[in-house]
Amino acid sequence: MPAEVKTTTCYMCACRCGIRVHLRDGEVRYIEGNPEHPINRGVICAKGSSGIMKQISPARLTRPLKRKAGSERGAGEFEPISWEEAFSLLENRLKKIRSSDPKKFALFTGRDQMQALTGLFARQFGTPNYAAHGGFCSVNMAAGMIYTIGGSFWEFGGPDLERAKLFVMIGTAEDHHSNPLKIALSEFKRRGGRFVSVNPVRTGYSAIADEWVPIRPGSDGALLLALVNELIAQGLYDREFVARYTNGGQLVVSDPAAAHFGLLATDEDADPINPLYPQNQLWWDRHSNGPCLTHTPDTDPYLFGEFTLPEGTHVRPAFQLLAERVAEYTPEWAERITGIPAATIRRLAHEMGVTARDDKIELPIAWTDCWGKEHRSVTGNPVAFHAMRGLAAHSNGFHTVRTLAILMSLLGTIDRPGGFRHKAPFPRAIPPSAKTPTGPEGVQPGKPLAGLALGWPGSPEDLFVDDDGEPVRIDKGFSWEYPLSVHGLMHNVITNAWRGDPYPIDTLLIFMANMAWNSTMNTVEVRKMLNDRGADGEYRIPFIAVCDAFQSEMTAFADLVLPDTTYLERHDVMSMLDRPISEFEGPVDSVRVPVVPPLGECKPFQEVLIELGSRLKLPAFTDADGKRKYGNYPDFIVRHETEPGSGIGFLAGWRGKDGEKSMLGEPNPKQWEMYAQNNCVFHYRLPHSYQYMRNWNRGYMEWAQRMRIRRWGDPVIIHLYSEVLQRFRLAAEGKWPGRQPPERLRARVQKHFDPLPFYCAPLEAQVTDLEQYPLAAITQRPMAMYHSWDSQNAWLRQIHGHNYLFVNPRTARAAGIADGAWMWVESRWGRVRCLCRVSEAVEPGTVWTWNAIGKQPGAWGLAPEANEARKGFLLNHLISDELPLEGGRTSNSDPITGQAGWYDVRVRIYPAHETETSPQFEVLPPAPGTRPAPLKWLAYVAGGRIER
Ligand code: SF4
Repeated sequence: MPAEVKTTTCYMCACRCGIRVHLRDGEVRYIEGNPEHPINRGVICAKGSSGIMKQISPARLTRPLKRKAGSERGAGEFEPISWEEAFSLLENRLKKIRSSDPKKFALFTGRDQMQALTGLFARQFGTPNYAAHGGFCSVNMAAGMIYTIGGSFWEFGGPDLERAKLFVMIGTAEDHHSNPLKIALSEFKRRGGRFVSVNPVRTGYSAIADEWVPIRPGSDGALLLALVNELIAQGLYDREFVARYTNGGQLVVSDPAAAHFGLLATDEDADPINPLYPQNQLWWDRHSNGPCLTHTPDTDPYLFGEFTLPEGTHVRPAFQLLAERVAEYTPEWAERITGIPAATIRRLAHEMGVTARDDKIELPIAWTDCWGKEHRSVTGNPVAFHAMRGLAAHSNGFHTVRTLAILMSLLGTIDRPGGFRHKAPFPRAIPPSAKTPTGPEGVQPGKPLAGLALGWPGSPEDLFVDDDGEPVRIDKGFSWEYPLSVHGLMHNVITNAWRGDPYPIDTLLIFMANMAWNSTMNTVEVRKMLNDRGADGEYRIPFIAVCDAFQSEMTAFADLVLPDTTYLERHDVMSMLDRPISEFEGPVDSVRVPVVPPLGECKPFQEVLIELGSRLKLPAFTDADGKRKYGNYPDFIVRHETEPGSGIGFLAGWRGKDGEKSMLGEPNPKQWEMYAQNNCVFHYRLPHSYQYMRNWNRGYMEWAQRMRIRRWGDPVIIHLYSEVLQRFRLAAEGKWPGRQPPERLRARVQKHFDPLPFYCAPLEAQVTDLEQYPLAAITQRPMAMYHSWDSQNAWLRQIHGHNYLFVNPRTARAAGIADGAWMWVESRWGRVRCLCRVSEAVEPGTVWTWNAIGKQPGAWGLAPEANEARKGFLLNHLISDELPLEGGRTSNSDPITGQAGWYDVRVRIYPAHETETSPQFEVLPPAPGTRPAPLKWLAYVAGGRIER
């Protein structure tokens, strides 16, 4: 068979680069970057080109498997079954659950790119117990930013490095947003831009920074508050931007006795325009020295002061309150917490403020704002930021991220050239309008869920709780414990289900998440919970189904294993209904198309859901007469519309009968072919006048409404002051007319739901003796592997076959540990034996390692004696999922969003004498259907058929 080249989208990490796959004799022989793809422009990384070895990995599952009768969960003993048997088993089980109590079925997924489909399935099934990986990944980054500026980093927006002069990266893994950011950074540096990296560790991106600012983990909020303090103290904020585009000038009721204390003062006689997002707030006008509706022509608000409204209410501008709040957060105060010298903090604040003020950008692009004011040009302040899980994955991360969004806003950099720019479908309203049901009645036998499983609460009335204020979801999402848990709390599910708190479940379906290993805290105990039985002898979690392409620690605990395909064997969509690959200039979505047939009996999880949805007769998957509606997943993607005749489907490109429409349009039977002919990408370019200032851009808002990206065309004012948080605080104080938190949670809600950003140490630090455990321990994923995905990849494991604990030489010396020696790292929850690597590239109070390199012996198709199992280690064994706080068991999560506090653990280190990692686990046997490593496979690139 001649050589051929097929185009699709990479999935060796979450970046979604375009690739060209070279095939010969039906085998993948070579993968290169697609030069015509907007994300990577031909660039490919080590992971991307190693996709070739994923195809032939010995860990590939190839047949549906059932746990052997009489064998224990975790032993990994299976027998092959047919797909029909697997489907019947699930169908019968799920039918019973759906017709009796749908919440007893829980669907949780890892770092998949199909949440629009998995979310639709869960909603149609009627279960509230659905979420993807966000809660244990970076929900604080999403929520902290979206509740402040209506957008966030990564898939939602990013730094405009094409025009920025100063770029500050904080808490970002060394290859986050991998190829696109690498390309942008190299061009930025060539243009002479200055790059500052704030991170406890100097690797990856930080290694090419012009300045590395080492910081103690979990203290980023203190740094950011001090920067805000300094910008305000020096008058280096963009006053014009703050006054017009944020709520800094809006008046806050400041009489503690007033019913609306802490809420924004409004003119009750004025038209709120949209009662859900009212626009009748007040400014105190500098020209007339009196109150006025915000954005009244020829008015300008005071940002500082204290005023009395005509009826006697005392009010103060939100900016005044912010300035008062940050007054105590001086650089000297921050130095004690962060370890960054006060002089450095002052210098950085000055550099940011002066660059923003003095290097303004002006583009000759006319636009009109939402209040009708015409602007002759688009202006920008060239200071850009990027941040991710280093800020987010702490139990104090929400306020940290909110402070970053406030800092960016004070510098006047939101959706402006050289600063931060949104990607469609952002900006969203604050908060976005999607909501969950608000009580247990939203879950009914035989019916779809009466709302979304995940939403954006705006007040206590939006919580998903029962009459006693207790959670409806198994992960306790959207309850008073984690009111803004907008991505759910996957990391709570197994512990809660095992404990039956708030209730037991029956069936847990896990897709692409290694919950028995690197995706869980308290690993050793969680593995016991998965295998634990109640007094009746039955498993506490009665049935576990796992869909994955590879044999892993998690599949060993499954009762039923469904073999997924690789990304080269299936159709996929990166949808506008989910997390598309949009660019700053407009919406972009993309697809994967199969370049090789599935191995063995592998079936894409998408097909599993379509099949189950059809068998269970879920309304979205069946016709009115109950007959199956879609032949397969590609058919579903082409024909499914969000509502009958809406013209909105999973894909925005080549819609309409002949593919002549975009964004909206009736289904096009040839849509897949058209994507395949166009590099698997659809790119919609907005007119220039719609590309900036989108929070307040009338033209953009009208377009977004026409395209049904936005429900309303209201401006999205930046929330320097969060009225949403204040509503929850009022409830905790007993001053909210509606729902109140249970007594045990009042103080917690009152403390954390502060409308202004504040600093408090992470929860773990509050319950740990910091003298005994003086070091912070963190992980990051390596550049060459996406978390646990590629330890089964013969090429990539040559780069990372085992991991070290990286320790500053000063710290290692003080502990008596030599470079390359075995050592113990111990938290108050457990200890792990590992290898030490002395490194100057880590600040002395931090130790760190690569995430998920250590493996259970035999897992991932590796030999039991492989380095991953004998020398590699998993830091998760040291992290507890619950903390002894507030007199009980409190999840090790942010009290606002439920974000897992991965990076809060405190440890000590000391020498070890044995020379193997500890703890050790049983050896997993190969699963039926997996194949041994081929012969000579390391020479595969040289060509020739693989011999087995
Ligand atoms: S950056 Fe990620 S998506 Fe892009 S080529 Fe590398 S692995 Fe693939």
